[in-house]
Amino acid sequence: MSSLFDRSYTCQVCGNTFTSKQVKTSAIRAKERKKDFHAIFGGENPTYYGVICCPKCGYAKFENDFKQVLESSEKAIIENTISSHWRTQNFCEERNTEIAISVHRIALASYKVHSAKQSVFGKLYLRLAWFNRELGEDDEAKRYTEMALCAFLSSYELERFEEVPEKELEIIYLIGELNRQQGNYKDAIRWFDMTIRHEYAYKNRLLKQYAKEQWALSVEENNQKK
Ligand SMILES: [Zn+2]
Repeated sequence: MSSLFDRSYTCQVCGNTFTSKQVKTSAIRAKERKKDFHAIFGGENPTYYGVICCPKCGYAKFENDFKQVLESSEKAIIENTISSHWRTQNFCEERNTEIAISVHRIALASYKVHSAKQSVFGKLYLRLAWFNRELGEDDEAKRYTEMALCAFLSSYELERFEEVPEKELEIIYLIGELNRQQGNYKDAIRWFDMTIRHEYAYKNRLLKQYAKEQWALSVEENNQKK
């Protein structure tokens, strides 16, 4: 039995109704979770299906954002900058890593014209880093890791997290981990420290534990570098 099913969507830009595959919850089997939240799955990878793309007009966003009603000015900007160049492409069937990379890159365009939050770009770049790492494309993975790091840094500096302070904690932790992956051990140590001391650290004990472990790893890696 297939672990995929069809879910219906209506495009907020062109009104097209279509179905796109999703992974059945019962079929999701996470084997491993890396310290940058990259999960490795036994079967189908639900992360590949996170972005929905309208085959008719090219509008593409994460599932929850895709469902949001748009202002007419927001529709117009997608029509003028994306749909006018779009040739029908179908990302609604089963996805492999390469297809997941393509559809996430297409989503970048929709978010760029809508001047989305830096935290959203961080999330997209981080996923593109994971997918490239899965393919062994280490240079591309490194490039996207750097872009994710820059986006999360901007998010931390510019965006307010009053409604969801736990989100800020997650971003501070990720800035630490991505710095560590890029070999910036001193910065990593500083951001892990901030995670551990954060006023909401008690709300996410797993993240606090991760920060402690990755702090120790960064100290070790920094010593090896000398
Ligand atoms: Zn559409």
